[in-house]
Amino acid sequence: MMKEKKQRNGKQDFSRQENKNFFQKDMELELLIEDMGTEGEGIGKKEGVAFFVKDAVLGDLVWVKIMKMKKNYGYARLIQVLKPSPYRTEPRCPMYRQCGGCQIQALDYGKQLEFKENKVKNNLKRIGGFQLEEAACESGKGLPVIHPVMGMEEPYHYRNKAQFPIGTDKNGNIVTGFYAARSHTIIPNRNCFLGVKLNEEILNLVIEFMEENGIAPYQETTGTGLVRHVLIRCGFATGEVMACLVINGRKLPFADKLTAKLQSIPGMTSITLNVNEKNTNVILGDEIIPLWGQNYITDYIGNVKYQISPLSFYQVNPVQTQKLYEKALEYAELTGTETVWDLYCGIGTISLFLAQKAKQVYGVELVGPAIKDARNNARINGITNVEFFVGKAEEVLPEFYEKGISEHPGAEMLHPDVIVVDPPRKGCDARCLETIVKMQPKRVVYVSCDSATLARDLKYLCGEGYEVREVQPVDMFPQTTHTECVVWIQRKHI
Ligand code: SAH
Repeated sequence: MMKEKKQRNGKQDFSRQENKNFFQKDMELELLIEDMGTEGEGIGKKEGVAFFVKDAVLGDLVWVKIMKMKKNYGYARLIQVLKPSPYRTEPRCPMYRQCGGCQIQALDYGKQLEFKENKVKNNLKRIGGFQLEEAACESGKGLPVIHPVMGMEEPYHYRNKAQFPIGTDKNGNIVTGFYAARSHTIIPNRNCFLGVKLNEEILNLVIEFMEENGIAPYQETTGTGLVRHVLIRCGFATGEVMACLVINGRKLPFADKLTAKLQSIPGMTSITLNVNEKNTNVILGDEIIPLWGQNYITDYIGNVKYQISPLSFYQVNPVQTQKLYEKALEYAELTGTETVWDLYCGIGTISLFLAQKAKQVYGVELVGPAIKDARNNARINGITNVEFFVGKAEEVLPEFYEKGISEHPGAEMLHPDVIVVDPPRKGCDARCLETIVKMQPKRVVYVSCDSATLARDLKYLCGEGYEVREVQPVDMFPQTTHTECVVWIQRKHI
């Protein structure tokens, strides 16, 4: 190891220091960033103590100041990049550091993908106890194969949905942008590099309308004013555009002037109001009031059509979603005769994809309105071999199984060929996994947005007669630290 430099501010040479208490707040030191934390912060080690440094990139040599010390680690602020990492790249967005929405925009995209692959591998190894095989080497050891992350050709402007808060600046001007970290102060910015370019045009028209007609932004502190947020959605396959103003009331004065302006936006299909009169951080209320056009836009993933209202949950990166679902479908290996459960099904996006190749699909989802969307989407696609249930996967599935096994033990829905799960970050509930094991499907396809809980759940399934065959990470959120995976899990003794 390189001999330690003297600290710039002075005097100490701590290279021989063993004592971890040596590091104190406000001390400055040099660090080589050798790893990245889950939030994309750089991690460098000194004398066995790890320091987390926001805005430092993997490979940077940096000069930092300690802000806070814990027992075995510390947080430090980046003061100067002494030698930039070869993986550093100029962030496209000038607001990158202030916004914080894109934690790793300063990291070269190829390196972002590598970082994500390593994150998945580390979790599978450390939490799941798996030994892995690289996709490139076919040694046939029967270990789970991990594929390189599927990235995007153009890792910007991929989001089909944006929600911009509306407020007032110090001088009383109407502003929109993003919230500064840990506050509700709006930093003005109408051009997010992850969103579509139309967002800016729509925001310009909405603010122009508000200024011309004296419409006040909502003030969180007093609960007064009207316009809270602008929600914009765009169907990438259809070009249809939705604008929805979230308001603190039920009526927008001069609404016809707003709709007249917004109709000039190419693809504008749906202009609505959403009522949110509560003093809350939740952006949307429950009620939609139509102003012009339809209450929804239409979009396609593959050849399945979806109607999306302002309240619908819909994947935000449709290009990568299609790749993810195609992989899930490939791993399900359907021939047309299979019975499939799709747990945590949302608005039925995966269920409808699977239904095209299966005999029968059953979807389960906690949120009632999402199931309403799911049923409607099945109807508009003429798909009749799906049935949806509202409830918790860990309650609906065991209830079906336990009741069914005493009354109709041979029923196909109790012994599905494939079970697909796509849980939220906390992963699958233990009762859900136990029932999956009892149902003994030949394959389980696990779509995951958190590889730590994925690793935990895979470990359980592998202790119960299953083995992991392939893991395919997919980059659904370039420039951020989030990573999705699809996993093929096979029953060992059929
Ligand atoms: N498969 C869908 C949605 C995945 S997001 C898609 O690809 O679009 C995860 C979904 O799980 C959300 O819709 C959430 O409402 C639902 N959910 C959360 N906890 C659940 C539970 N315990 N049981 C069933 N669904 C749940």
